[in-house]
Amino acid sequence: MHSGKRALKGPASLAVPLTSLLAALALLLGIPASGAFAATQEPGGVEGKTYTIGTDTTFAPFEFRENGELVGIDMDLVNAIAEDQGFDVEIRSLGFDAALQALQSNQVDGVIAGMSITEERQKVFDFSDPYFESGIQMAVAENNNDVSGYEDLEGKRVAVKTGTEGQAFAESIKDQYGFDVIAFAQSAQMYDDVKAGSSVAVFDDYPVLAYGIKSGNGLKTVTDKEAGSSYGFAVNAGTNPELREAFNAGLANLQESGEYEEIMDRYLDAGAADSSFWSLVTDNAPAFAKGLGLTLLATALSLFFALILGVIFGFFKVSSKVVLRGIATTYVSIFRGTPVLVQAFFFYFGLPQLIGQPVDVLTAGVLTLSLNAGAYMTEIVRGGIQSVDPGQMEAARSLGLGYGKTMQKVIIPQAIKIMTPSFINQFVITLKDTSLLAVIGFAELTYQAQQIYAVNFRTAEVLLIVAALYFIVITLLTKLADVLDKRFNK
Ligand code: GLN
Repeated sequence: MHSGKRALKGPASLAVPLTSLLAALALLLGIPASGAFAATQEPGGVEGKTYTIGTDTTFAPFEFRENGELVGIDMDLVNAIAEDQGFDVEIRSLGFDAALQALQSNQVDGVIAGMSITEERQKVFDFSDPYFESGIQMAVAENNNDVSGYEDLEGKRVAVKTGTEGQAFAESIKDQYGFDVIAFAQSAQMYDDVKAGSSVAVFDDYPVLAYGIKSGNGLKTVTDKEAGSSYGFAVNAGTNPELREAFNAGLANLQESGEYEEIMDRYLDAGAADSSFWSLVTDNAPAFAKGLGLTLLATALSLFFALILGVIFGFFKVSSKVVLRGIATTYVSIFRGTPVLVQAFFFYFGLPQLIGQPVDVLTAGVLTLSLNAGAYMTEIVRGGIQSVDPGQMEAARSLGLGYGKTMQKVIIPQAIKIMTPSFINQFVITLKDTSLLAVIGFAELTYQAQQIYAVNFRTAEVLLIVAALYFIVITLLTKLADVLDKRFNK
């Protein structure tokens, strides 16, 4: 297999998160954020600077994961150029559409993702010189002998990837040929839709189709490629001009030195090795382990904050003060009344626009899950307190205990006992909800699964492994919680 691996920093670097988590919390609590939006644009060169570069999750051979590490033509190119020009890059593997959105909202400084230089995009982005000539092609399932041209698509469904040139091309001819278009966020989903027979064809860039077919993705091409655009590296219009210039200069140097050619050869004549189920597990063990670690980290952080929120707002809910009850009710209804997915998108893509600074993916994820779980915890706390017979309060008070002491000695201990099963329940729900963060590029377990099957096309096996991992971890942790419950809540 390829030898051109370079050490890349993972998408979820853990150094920054806590500060931006606090900043975001401060904002939510109404404390003005300190420091205005620092413009990314500084005069001068690129030397010594670190740029954040967004890319697709999987677009082999341009970017994909091999043994958990991001590799591919784009990755090698941008690393070689960075080295040549003396700057550093931090790669964020976000997904194609997500990378473009991240660039537009200045969450990243540039995008390299087999991104076609199109007229539309040139209105909002500034592109480097082209570095690869591409074009759109149609592919169908290997065993499909009914579709051999666009005219066979009538009344059928075609799969594309959201926001790509393939989608634009499909949309442009769909009325003429009478087919429907369905868009997916990730390449793997799009390919799986065709293999499952739900869509009959896929429109994608021809080098990517060729590479996938060679790796045994179960498809074949049936039409010639359409003339298409070339790939370029993009920065936001008018932003980071020095980065674009450095990319161009570095690219020219690589082309002259022959390194460009080497990179292309490294990936363009590669095939894929087959392997057993067991080697699928062992080969990807580092990726699974990393994913599981991040899943547990996000769960632990989220539950910690959720518990605090739940206790505070739970007491607000049983308070005699109407204002406090109102605040708690509003909080609960907002976070219980909107989908977690929408909340995750909001905190990752929306919040940065409001606070004028990027929010890293762990922070956005933990904000989402803790505010969401906190709403449910609030109800658990309220329910627990209220389910203790009011007679107990009266009895304790008439024996001369104050309100606070009664709460502390009589009500709360009983309430905790009542609440514990619901807390364990919420803990399981939150752990499973972390999988939703895959859509904002948080490298937890589900995300790792997507990365793996996007390259080896063994979707069913990889998903079974991941489901088993979730199942084992959740079973073990609930067992542990039950033991602790029995021990302390007697
Ligand atoms: N070249 C296509 C585009 O720019 C697809 C890129 C991708 O899917 N990463 O639209």
